[in-house]
Amino acid sequence: MTGEHEVKTDEQWREELTPEQYEVLRKAGTEPPFTGEYVYNKADGTYRCAGCGVELFSSDAKFESGTGWPSFTEPTLAAAVETRPDDSLFMRRTEVVCRRCGGHLGHVFDDGPAPTGQRYCINSAALSFEPQRDS
Ligand code: FE
Repeated sequence: MTGEHEVKTDEQWREELTPEQYEVLRKAGTEPPFTGEYVYNKADGTYRCAGCGVELFSSDAKFESGTGWPSFTEPTLAAAVETRPDDSLFMRRTEVVCRRCGGHLGHVFDDGPAPTGQRYCINSAALSFEPQRDS
C-alpha cells in the first residue's frame, strides 16, 4: 500500500461493500466468468471504482473479449490505475489496482485489440456503472 491510498480499516470496507465487492476489491478475488453484471453491458457511460467512486473506464474503451469479464483497451486516465506483478496461482500476470483506494480490479494482458493491444480484464464487482446522461 502506498500513502496515496485512502485509509480505511478492513472493518469499514466490510461494512461499506457487498460481500462480492469485498472479496474482489479487498481480497483480490475473481468473480466466476460470465456472472458479473457488466459482462454484456453495451450502454454508454462511465465505469467507476466500486470502492471509492473514482472514474476508471469509459464505455468507449470496452470491447467484447469473449472471456466472461468486462474488458477494456485502456483506462480513462492512466494515472487512475496502478499495475504490479502478480505471480500467484503459478502464473505471471499483471494486477490492476485502483490507485485511489488500492482496491483490486483485475489483470491486464497484452492480447487486446488495436490500438493499445491491451486487455484490461476487470471484475464487474469492482466497478460501478454510471450511464451517460442525455443533455
Ligand atoms: Fe478505488
